[in-house]
This record gives sequence, C-alpha cells and structure tokens, in this order.
Amino acid sequence: MKSWLTISDHSDFSIYNLPFGSFSTPNLDQRLGVAIGDSIVDLKSCAQKGLFQHAPFASVTLEEPILNNFMGCGKESRVWLRNWLQQQLTHTDSELYAHKDELLCPMESANLHLPVHIGDYTDFYSSEDHARNVGKMFRDPENALLPNWKHLPVGYHGRASSIVVSGTNIHRPKIQFLPAGSDVPSFGPSKMIDFELEMAFLVSRNTELGEQITTDEAEDSIFGLVVFNDWSARDTQRWEYVPLGPFLAKNFGSVISPWIVTMEALSPFRVVGPTQEPKVLPYLEYRQNMHFDVNLEVLLQPENGNEELISKSNFKFMYWNMAQQLAHHTVNGCNVRIGDMMASGTISGPTPDSFGSMLELAWGGKNPITLKDGSSRASIQDGDTVIMRGFAEKDGIRVGFGECKSKILPAI
Ligand code: CA
Repeated sequence: MKSWLTISDHSDFSIYNLPFGSFSTPNLDQRLGVAIGDSIVDLKSCAQKGLFQHAPFASVTLEEPILNNFMGCGKESRVWLRNWLQQQLTHTDSELYAHKDELLCPMESANLHLPVHIGDYTDFYSSEDHARNVGKMFRDPENALLPNWKHLPVGYHGRASSIVVSGTNIHRPKIQFLPAGSDVPSFGPSKMIDFELEMAFLVSRNTELGEQITTDEAEDSIFGLVVFNDWSARDTQRWEYVPLGPFLAKNFGSVISPWIVTMEALSPFRVVGPTQEPKVLPYLEYRQNMHFDVNLEVLLQPENGNEELISKSNFKFMYWNMAQQLAHHTVNGCNVRIGDMMASGTISGPTPDSFGSMLELAWGGKNPITLKDGSSRASIQDGDTVIMRGFAEKDGIRVGFGECKSKILPAI
C-alpha cells in the first residue's frame, strides 16, 4: 500500500497506522484528526463535506472535539473509517485527494489536545521484571513478588483529572514525604521525582453494573493505546502507600502521547505472551495472543542539553495482558465506560538497560546513571524533559505512537 502523500519510511504515522487525535490550529477550532506522515486528516471538515454519508456511524460524531462518541460507535465503525482512509490516501481519484488542501493540515501547525474525556483511570502493575525489581529493593530480595502477584493483575484506581497530553510540563509537587534515611516526614518539594514508562489502553464500550467482560470479549472493548508517563514522587510513595496504595505520589500529573493507535494497526505485531505458571484461574485464561511487540524508549533531555537514550524496553515484556486486565477489572461486576483508561504499570525488561523507571535504572539511588554531559541522575531534576517513544516494526511496516514528552518545572 502506498499513499500519494510523501511519507518517510521512518515516520510513525504510516498508511498502516492512522491513529486518532484531537488538534487545533490558529485557524481551526479543536477537532478530531488522523495522523498520516507529516499531516493530519481533518475529520471535522471531511464530515462537514458529507464524505461520511455512507458510513455505518453518525457523521456528527466526527464533528466533535473529542473521540468519546465515535469510540462508542464500535469496532465496525472504526474499521470502516480505517478502510476508507486507506482507500482515499492511496488513490488519486479520491475525494481526499481532490480536496487535499482543505482536508489535510500540516502537523507542524497543529496544537495537540487530550483526545478523550477520561472518566476513570486504573493503573496496573503487570510487568514481572518491574515488580521483582521493586520487591527486591523495598522488601525481600529472595521473595520479591508478593503471594498474589501471579494469581491476579494487581492494580489500583488512579486519578483521571490530572492526566494531560504530551507537551504539558509539570511543576515539582510540594508534598509530604519521608527524607532518605529518616523516619520523620517533611513537607516541601519532593526530592525524588521519577518517570514510569507505561502503555495505556482506552475502553470503547459502556457496560452495566454487574456485567463482565470476558478475555474473549476484551479486544472488541478496546479502542487503542497510547504511551504513558506516570510521573511519581518516590519519597512520598514509600511513606504514604501503606496500607491502601498510591495516592498523592501518583496524581500530580500523568502524561499520554497524543495519538491513539488502534487495535487494528497493532494487530500485525501480536506475539505469544509468557508462560503463566502457576496456572491462572479460568476467568483469566485467554486464547488470542494479546501481547504486542512494541519497542519503547525513554530519553532524558537536561535543560539546554541534548536528548539521551536511557532505557529501551518493550510492551511484550508484560506478564498480564490487556484482555486479562479488563476481564479481572470487570469480573466482580464493576462497570466500565467509554473513555476509561487502563495503564500497564511500569514496563521493565529483563536487562538493566531495559528498566522503565529511574528508581530501577539507578537501583534505588545506589547506582546513579551518568549522562553524556557528565552529570548524574538518581531522580529527575528541575528542567529535565523525559521523552518516551513507542513503535512497532515488521516486514517493512512501521506503526508508531509519536512522543510522550513532559518537563519537570521547579516547585511553585
Ligand atoms: Ca504507574
């Protein structure tokens, strides 16, 4: 498949991707779009031109500034639009080609917005290497995993209001924390800000209270994924999390990449997941491969410095997959809603260069990492920008997520 648009082989936004986002320009109000190469297909203008008259969804859902109502139109509508866009972008006798100056917008002129109203946000803890690393550092090196960990996808309910889009910078939080080496708390700017490399999926259906989503049904209940940086204050986290779990250490700002990559775009990159031993309970068994080979990178850019790669991980390193997470979340009858976001938890691989947080890369502060400018880091400093990238590649097809980028500003 080849588009009449010039698209670099290195572009995240190939004809096989077509992720959804929300954008505005100095001349256009906030609206939905699909990324393609260095351009955005303006879905609102397409809808207003009547191009979706024969679509299986109400065209008006694409005239809205956020995706929730279109997400609720279901997989059939998403696939129809994907096929339509691929057809339009590969044929010069198409309406999109004929009106390309009106219907395509250069990405460089666009501001990107949070594309979804996220009603509820749940964060899991589903990478075995991450859970083991944290368990070794904070508890018992011999019994790093708690007894429940291989029996259920551990998670907690997070805070949706402070989820922001890439490019949003976050002030260092003033917070109660336990200074290193002390058992008396202090109040002030956290001294241990960290990132967490995660991916997150967005739910595309409403369920009733009491209704379950099985692992077989899970995939059709997911719209797509983003890369997610769950900013964390480690000195607060270890003080406050007992016994009910994370709270202020995690809700002062969490960042998503702006483009939602659909399940259809990710489908070619399915891989077999890890053997789960001990055997999981029947409601957590799954049939279709629901692990995905998505390369993940974390880069750190000091103030006025250059980007530097500090970690390479992969979404395939998950122990629990999205189908299991969604099945577990709803097995008790908890209802979900369109736009709910569920994050993976920090994704670490088996080797030290694949750890998904500074906590692990610097091993709890014991081994600070050295940057090329000679400075060292055991946590994130004011002025540091953390950039996360995700992309899948196979057989000449590239599907990427763009950037999830955020800077830590001084406390105010
Ligand atoms: Ca997290």
